[in-house]
Parts: sequence; structure tokens; C-alpha cells
Amino acid sequence: MNKDVIKTVDQLKVYLNTMKVDSDLKSDIIEGLAQNSMSLTITHHVLNLIDWNNPSTDPIRKQFLPLHSEYLPSHPQSRIDSLSEKKQEVSSGLIHRYPNKLLFLSTNYCPTYCAFCTRSYTVSNDTEFLKKSKLEEAFKTRVNNLVKYLKSNPNISDIVISGGDIASASTSMIDIILSAIINIQTLKTVRLATRTLLFNPDIFLPKTQLFELITKYSSRFKSQGIELSIQCHFNHANEISTTSQEATNSLFNSGVKIRNQTVLLNGVNSSHEAQKELIHKLISSNIEPYYVYQMDMVTNAEHFRTSLKTCIDISKSLTGLFPGFHLPRFIVDLPFGGGKRSVYEYDFYDDKYGVYWFRSPAISDDKIYFYCDPLKYLNAHIQEQWIRKKSISAIYNLD
Ligand code: SF4
Repeated sequence: MNKDVIKTVDQLKVYLNTMKVDSDLKSDIIEGLAQNSMSLTITHHVLNLIDWNNPSTDPIRKQFLPLHSEYLPSHPQSRIDSLSEKKQEVSSGLIHRYPNKLLFLSTNYCPTYCAFCTRSYTVSNDTEFLKKSKLEEAFKTRVNNLVKYLKSNPNISDIVISGGDIASASTSMIDIILSAIINIQTLKTVRLATRTLLFNPDIFLPKTQLFELITKYSSRFKSQGIELSIQCHFNHANEISTTSQEATNSLFNSGVKIRNQTVLLNGVNSSHEAQKELIHKLISSNIEPYYVYQMDMVTNAEHFRTSLKTCIDISKSLTGLFPGFHLPRFIVDLPFGGGKRSVYEYDFYDDKYGVYWFRSPAISDDKIYFYCDPLKYLNAHIQEQWIRKKSISAIYNLD
């Protein structure tokens, strides 16, 4: 058993007792686990970043140990696979949505699970709430398929190697992936997606196997004209520990670019101040603030969603406070596989039903994609209509 990771309710109870967590809150946390789409796995490093004197409002506790009392019913238009990745899967774990970009899922696992995970349909073990759709093919078969696919689609110049979290794959697995693709001349950028610079930054420190592997491949890829970068995921300044900073500064000094993506989460980072503080800390950790995502319409994570206007307002409030190259792009990843669009790029907003209409020409010339605000922002009788009619098609009589 890895002593640095908590994986059972009993272990968590022992930890909460040590932290002297109030018994009502403790029950709320334990009941919240039964409702979570993600199985229980959390590193001590993450637990120790939580302010246990103020756990109710703590932005880290909210993401990983949501309370039963925080959950809200999902929007009728929410989906477990909200981005329709399964529909865009060309072979096991290989998702091709954009003409020139590819997503490779290396593993189904992460060192800690985020309760709002967009990929909850496949990531983590099964939970009481959700049975997962697992990667079907063996790892080496998937890597072979990846190489074949890249060779037969020379227009693909960018690949994101994700999961789960690449840090949950062994260094030998990452080695296998990178050595398999390094000679593909049509690639220009390779991105390693990980949240482990938060979960367990020790494994990215100099002289570790992972650090040595990434820096070695970074130089090799560079000599081939390919940028190998890390795509990390910090949502709040409190997540960036001194060890995280030591790791990111060392990677940066070894020539590895690190870009951050943030998910806008209600009550976690849904304010001007929280985003501003995060950007400052990212910059001072040699991490480029890259994206802030509007929270996806994923089932069972409704309490994390804000209105799209909240996202737009925060974006506007930050413009001018940082040089443009340090200002993240505020993005909505459109439900049903419409891809990423700037939050400003909607064609129409129906404020009665809280529906934004987007087009996404890179994905489809004629299709309209809808992003819906949480029902709590709408009038009570409109909320009732949504609950009765259940879908966009019924709301707009599209059938
Ligand atoms: S690290 Fe990423 S893939 Fe893993 S649970 Fe969190 S959001 Fe999901």
C-alpha cells in the first residue's frame, strides 16, 4: 500500500480525525463520497494543502472531497461524456476532434481524482454512482495504433498525451510513447497533460526518473523541430506549493515549456481576485497561463458550474492587468464535441432559457452547438419547463 495515498473511507476517517474535523462536516464528506463520480484516491500532499481550520470554504477541499450537501441536480442537457469523446474516438483511447490535433489517452488513472472531471466516463475505478468505460486495447496495441494513425494522417501536427494523468503511467510507458512518435516528421508539438505537479510534485523534481525522462526527450524532440511541453492544471493559487514551484522552475530551467489550464469552478476560483492571484503565482512559477475553461456540462458536477456570464465578466476584469502573453484565453469546450471556442464567440444568447448558441466551423460547417447556464440562474417557471421538457430539442421544438 502506498502510504502517501488515501484510498479507503476508513483511511480518510483516520486522517479527518487527526485534523479534528467537526463530526457533521466529516459525515457530509463521507456521504459526499458515495455521490462522487470518481473513486476515492487522494494524496497526502493534496490533503495537507487544505486549510483544515476552514474546510467548508477551502478551494482544495471542494474539488477533491465535495460535501453531500453541496451537490445539485444535473442540468437536463448534461451528459456523462459531455464532450462526446466516445463518438470521436477513432480507436481505443485515440480521439480525433480537430483536423490537425489528436488526443491520446495513455491511462484511465490519476494520483488523485477531481470530482468535476470531464472524463469521468472513463477515468478512475467504478463508483456507486458510475460504471466506467475503460480503454479496451492493451497499451502497446494502442501505441501502435497511434503511430499508424499519425502516419496515415500527416495533417496532424499536435498531439496531447493525456489520460487520466500521464504521471499515473510508468516512466517506461511514457518512454515507449515518446520513442514511438519522435521520428514522425509531421508532428510539431507534443503535450504531456498532468495534474501531478499539484498531486505529487516530488516526482517531477530534478534527478527523479520522470524529470530525467522529460528533459531528455525535450532536447531530443527539439533537435527534431518538435516542441515537447507539459500541460498542467492548477485551479487555485493555494495548489502551487513550494515543491510544485521547485519542480516547475527546474523543468523551465532545463528548457521545458509548461502551460496551465484552469477550470472555472463555482466557489473555488470563480472570482476576479482568485483568478488574478492564480495568474500571478503561475507567472512566478514559470508557468504560462494558457486556458481558463468554462466548466463543462458534465453530469453530477452541477454545483461546480457558474453561468457563462461569470466567466466572461472575470475575463473582462483581467484584461489590461497583465501583458497579453500572460493573460489566459477564456474558453468554452462545446457540448457534443463542438470543440473549444472563446467565451465571446457565441452567435446568440437566449437569456430566457439560459442557452448560448455557438457555431464551430473547424468541426462542422452547419451545426449549432448549445451551452446552457445552470438552472439556478433562471426564473422558477423556466426551471420547471427545463425539468419537464428535459432537452434542447423539446425546449426549441427541434424534432
Ligand atoms: S487530473 Fe484531470 S483526468 Fe484526472 S481526475 Fe482530475 S480532471 Fe480528471
